[in-house]
Amino acid sequence: MSFSSLKLDTILCQHLKDIGYKLPTLIQKETIPHVLSGNDVMARAQTGTGKTAAFALPLINKLISLDTTKTPRILVLVPTRELAQQVHSNICTYASPYSYNAAVIHGGVSGKDQIQQIQSGAEIVIGTPGRLIDNLRNNDFKLDDIVSVVLDEADRMLDLGFKDEINHILSLIPKERQTLLFSATFNDDVYKFSKNHQSNVEVIKLDESNTIATSIKQIIYTVDESRKRELTSFLIGSKNWHQVLVFTRTKKMADLLAKEMTKDGVKSLSIHSDKSQGARNKALASFKDKSIRALIATDVAARGIDISNLSYVINYELPYQAEDYIHRIGRTGRAGSNGIAVSLVSSNEAWLVEAIEKVTNEQLLQEWFPGFEPDLSAPQSTQPPRKENKRTTRNKALSRHKPRSKR
Ligand code: AMP
Repeated sequence: MSFSSLKLDTILCQHLKDIGYKLPTLIQKETIPHVLSGNDVMARAQTGTGKTAAFALPLINKLISLDTTKTPRILVLVPTRELAQQVHSNICTYASPYSYNAAVIHGGVSGKDQIQQIQSGAEIVIGTPGRLIDNLRNNDFKLDDIVSVVLDEADRMLDLGFKDEINHILSLIPKERQTLLFSATFNDDVYKFSKNHQSNVEVIKLDESNTIATSIKQIIYTVDESRKRELTSFLIGSKNWHQVLVFTRTKKMADLLAKEMTKDGVKSLSIHSDKSQGARNKALASFKDKSIRALIATDVAARGIDISNLSYVINYELPYQAEDYIHRIGRTGRAGSNGIAVSLVSSNEAWLVEAIEKVTNEQLLQEWFPGFEPDLSAPQSTQPPRKENKRTTRNKALSRHKPRSKR
């Protein structure tokens, strides 16, 4: 099936050929016809499947048939600044044969230029909910002419506590709109949210479970907590890995690890929401141009990192939410290329492996890395730390997401 058989505009189809998109991906094949026919869509798609083009291409096609007035007609809501920038950049590429403009709105930078972009005539607005709410409160622009709204990574937006902001934004958009919801995972909150905001919804699930792409090799090394850093630096150094994305659970650990690994000779930078936007952009740029070998990221900051040939992900610490494991390792093995995802698991993280196995419905083989075998004479625990059971530990982790600082 080609892009032209999906009934996209001929100019757009030619442009896709020019940028090297030979055939639509599965999510694009499934979604584009429904979006073109004006239906609401709820789609479960992991990152790296081509989901941005799955909504952006038919919506650009829709603009052609509209009497465009150089006012916002399409709104894309995303959870993080990095994802906002990435989606903006993709949409600009897709829309380049036309005279449409796309503007991006997010916190961490001066809002003046962003508002200027919209006021000078942007049909497509991509934004994070927090900053967008501020703009709407200040009457910087209106959403009265919006015809389609995309809620991208809806599960993550709800996790970050953006529900009220999104509800408010949607209340300011005409009811006769098209609402498209994309989410890497479907859970009760996502279904409820869809029920409140969508009608006659077309549900698209690419897979029946939260499966991991077969192109990703998953390796679990059981190792003592105190030797994780040493093993991380050793793996990267001895295997001569470059562009390695390393995940930690906390911002503090990300900063500390980046410093220590740099001392070990593995040049690294950290990226998380307490860093200034300038520092986040710099870290990402250094990672992309390979002037550093490892980027140490928290889950939220890693959203939006789209590097086509990212081969290595290391989970320095496993996430408290099993679904985040799928998001994390989905950063590699994108668009069918191969990837390796290594997770370092200490004895008191064993319960997190079980949670991941349950969600992915896949048993993970745990092994020892020669020279880094765990010290079995030390007290072992396969349970969550005492006084900090699964629920409190998870709640603690969630409470660390401060929605307002992610704008
Ligand atoms: P996404 O899931 O939207 O983040 O896209 C993942 C990557 O796949 C991006 O680098 C896109 O540029 C790329 N991509 C999306 N659709 C196609 C396609 N039909 N053919 C080739 N690459 C694509």
